[in-house]
Amino acid sequence: MTTAVVGAGPTGLFTAIALARRGHDVTVVDRDPGPVEGRPWRRRGVMQFAHAHTFRGPVVDALQAEIPGAVEVLVEAGATVATADDGTAIALRCRRELFERALRVMASRQRGLTMVTGHVDRVVLDAHRAVGVLVDGARMPADLVIDASGRAGRMSRGLGRTGEDAQCGAAYVTRQYRLDDVAAGGPVNGPIGLSLSLSGYFAVAFVHDNGTFSVTITHDGTDPRLRQLRHAPVYEAAVRAIPLLAEWIDRAQPITPVLPGGRLHNSYRPQVDDDGRPMVPGLLAVGDSACTTTPLAGRGVTLAFRQAQALVGMLDRRPEDPVAVAVQFDGWCRDHIRPWFLDHVHCDGDRLRRWAGGDIDVRRRLPSDLVVAAAAADASLRAEVAAYERMQALPSSLDRLQERARAVYASGWRPPIAAGPTRAELGELCAQCATGQPVPL
Ligand SMILES: Cc1cc2nc3c(=O)[nH]c(=O)nc-3n(C[C@H](O)[C@H](O)[C@H](O)COP(=O)(O)OP(=O)(O)OC[C@H]3O[C@@H](n4cnc5c(N)ncnc54)[C@H](O)[C@@H]3O)c2cc1C
Repeated sequence: MTTAVVGAGPTGLFTAIALARRGHDVTVVDRDPGPVEGRPWRRRGVMQFAHAHTFRGPVVDALQAEIPGAVEVLVEAGATVATADDGTAIALRCRRELFERALRVMASRQRGLTMVTGHVDRVVLDAHRAVGVLVDGARMPADLVIDASGRAGRMSRGLGRTGEDAQCGAAYVTRQYRLDDVAAGGPVNGPIGLSLSLSGYFAVAFVHDNGTFSVTITHDGTDPRLRQLRHAPVYEAAVRAIPLLAEWIDRAQPITPVLPGGRLHNSYRPQVDDDGRPMVPGLLAVGDSACTTTPLAGRGVTLAFRQAQALVGMLDRRPEDPVAVAVQFDGWCRDHIRPWFLDHVHCDGDRLRRWAGGDIDVRRRLPSDLVVAAAAADASLRAEVAAYERMQALPSSLDRLQERARAVYASGWRPPIAAGPTRAELGELCAQCATGQPVPL
């Protein structure tokens, strides 16, 4: 079976390597030519490339299962794997660039896998069946086309039913830094680094590789004054106003400009139409092209690799029948991926209500993030929320904890708010800083 994979992002490379390792003939097409050794990689078409990433434990497991040696290449390049007491991987800490470079190395070593640089204009159809792709005007035939073109990919949009969609309601501002002394970072409170909930917004320091880290501020995007955060002096002043984050940047130098991002969506696209038939036989979507979730929880690559693993297994078992695979894969995604999409929609909606001043509402079904947070007050919840947090159990695994979590909030307990400005104070600080007024720190 010849397969054309559109997109050499994490999903496309993972899928392609896993398929080629099983003896399939795979060509990956991406408009980005890839990194050049020793030079910065100006990645086109992936706006989040330099944004903070952390990779959850299942990403490590998936790499070990499908791309032997990849985790070793990452660790050799400076990534670290955080593990739980029982040895389970809970986070892979490195910059997204390092992650993608390692996947590119593994792809270059994989027999049966060809990389092509070019823009895929469209899927080539014959009698409404995908028979290849058009790359910069030239036909590239394939028995199967896998759309791994990401959240911004347009290649297969319009060829089938549009899916479900809800705004994340999260605007991001991020910057990468390098520690002056790689062995001496700032304070941490979890495997990814330092995660702080403030009044009306979040702020996080993500530990990466080789003494690098990112600081990200996330808000709901409704206060126009916070748009000033994209300017470096405003951003630095805002980060310094949050004492635990100030400790991080006081011992580091910035290595990127301040990078804004926003207007993100939770989205889910099925593989089949209302009658249960593949939208386009011979065409499958995987990764962000099929499902996106708010980056706040850092689940994107885990969900993408899970889909890819499931799909590759199905294709390997029935290479001659991509139509049956599409139907099977759609059912699997409905059961294993869509629940995460729905979970994010619920969490994001309730978070926005709380950020706008609403209190935790114990009369309604609590969103998963609040069930998880309640474990800080009720230790009996901890083991069960850990399985969800590690993505070893679906969001529905928290249903049985609802009553106990509600009891925690009904008692008056609330998740701790970190020291630092409220969102209104942050807005004021941004406005003052932007007009050159002295900012009280
Ligand atoms: C701000 C932000 C922070 C995030 N943080 C995390 C995190 O901490 N942890 C996590 O797990 N996930 C995170 N995510 C999600 C994660 O980035 C995505 O899940 C991941 O990029 C999905 O990979 P992908 O390969 O499916 O798509 P992409 O990474 O978007 O790759 C798609 C590829 O397709 C190529 N392409 C597209 N169209 C064409 C075309 N027509 N022709 C040729 N090539 C094409 C692009 O050039 C690109 O290389 C974050 C997302 C955002 C927005």
